[in-house]
Amino acid sequence: MSKLQKTLVLLKPCTLQRGLAGEIISLFEKKGLIIKGMKMMQLTDELLSEHYAHLSEKPFFGRVKAAMMTAPVVALCLEGVDAVDAVRALTGPTNGRLAPAGTIRGNYCVSFQENIVHASDSPETAAIELARFFKPEEIFEWRPAIFNWLYACDEF
Ligand code: ADP
Repeated sequence: MSKLQKTLVLLKPCTLQRGLAGEIISLFEKKGLIIKGMKMMQLTDELLSEHYAHLSEKPFFGRVKAAMMTAPVVALCLEGVDAVDAVRALTGPTNGRLAPAGTIRGNYCVSFQENIVHASDSPETAAIELARFFKPEEIFEWRPAIFNWLYACDEF
């Protein structure tokens, strides 16, 4: 059985506003994560209320949703072995001020809210979130030619 996993990443409006979209996508590519889907979207209050439902009781719920609508986002479907954990490790903890140097949030932001990317936090969430942001035909089952240099043969 394949150990490959897919996960959702959103490049937040702050990332597009700051002209960092290409740089951040490149970090995921350089890590070895495979881009299986990528698109630009303008998010709506309805979609964000679903996506951030776990924050609905928080005082910052409204402003987090508003911030996510100030510009489009870029949605990515990334694949790799243990991709959910690999992407979260690269992303770093939520508060950019406390995120370790070397992580995306640690290197690129100083904010709790304007923290560059969203990344799914479990395989179950990833499946739900990918279905929320991508149609099945927007995810491409391809394998890069360098795949066998990304993993040992028993790792995937
Ligand atoms: P993560 O994005 O790290 O999985 P959460 O799911 O807890 O974190 O929160 C979703 C988003 O809401 C965060 O990425 C951040 O933009 C915002 N957020 C979370 N907690 C706070 C907070 N205490 N203050 C401001 N914004 C917050």
